[in-house]
Amino acid sequence: MHPELRALVELQAIDDRIAALKRELVAIPGRVESENRLLKSFEDSVAEAQKAVESVKKRQRDTEREIQSTEQKLREARGKQALVKTNDEFRALSSEIAQLEGQVGSLEDAALEIMESLPAAEKRLAEEKGEMDRAKGQVQGAVSRHKAEGERLEKSLQTLLIERQTVAAAVSSPWQERYERFYKGRGGLAVCPIIEQTCQGCRMSETLQRFFEIRDSEDTIFTCSNCGRIIFYKVATNNVAEYQGLLLGLGQALEFGASEVEVVTDSELLARQWSGEYRVRHPELKELYGKAKEAARRFERVVVRHVRRGENVAADAAANRAIDSAPGA
Ligand SMILES: [Zn+2]
Repeated sequence: MHPELRALVELQAIDDRIAALKRELVAIPGRVESENRLLKSFEDSVAEAQKAVESVKKRQRDTEREIQSTEQKLREARGKQALVKTNDEFRALSSEIAQLEGQVGSLEDAALEIMESLPAAEKRLAEEKGEMDRAKGQVQGAVSRHKAEGERLEKSLQTLLIERQTVAAAVSSPWQERYERFYKGRGGLAVCPIIEQTCQGCRMSETLQRFFEIRDSEDTIFTCSNCGRIIFYKVATNNVAEYQGLLLGLGQALEFGASEVEVVTDSELLARQWSGEYRVRHPELKELYGKAKEAARRFERVVVRHVRRGENVAADAAANRAIDSAPGA
């Protein structure tokens, strides 16, 4: 791969990580805020319970005061009664006194009722305070965890930004500009692989001739003729799987003690590469190809024969198993 292209691929991977870090960082104040809102709701409950206690106490004081003023009026009425001259005045005062006595009586009943409601209000206040204290501990813990996470993310971000500078320095400015423009304008995908003629950015196909140029060139950077993204050749995962399947089969044949092996594959590429008709160019395939050739040397003869897909059910299943067990699959 062209060293500048390699740098561009790396640059995009770094930018993806930077974008992910920034998204996480942006979310942190919201998390702290929601923790604080939670605590606030506990504080509100305490304030409400506190208000209920104070209201009971105020009613208690008001009732006491009313009792005192009514008793004062009662004393005055009784004083006056001792001084009256006529029966009419006496009777009027008697009825007033009886009324005031009745008032004092019901006020005292009310005072008793209020007094009895106080412990329940105070108990609720104590409970709400207890809940708040527990929540406070949890919220403080969560907030400091969020903040530590924020600091960790910030640190990683700074490291990545420095790393980015180093990688970006390896890319010439026209390519860097194109990269920046496409990364921003094309949903964070400026550099993408082309797999079996198809640009993985826009899903359009290049001509076979151009695809071979892209695949085989070490000194040119190509862009997609449809979407303009920077493209690089990437071996199709199924080709890797074909080779992994071949290795698996050869390994088993060795265990069985076979001396001659006939490999039946629906991969024309593998068959033609094995016979030497096609060159193996991709480093990942090259490595697997080398391993398979080495494994083949332990037999007297290994023949690889191509059949059409569907005539090859057993090998296809092996290839699928290889795909499932492949790292990153
Ligand atoms: Zn494209």
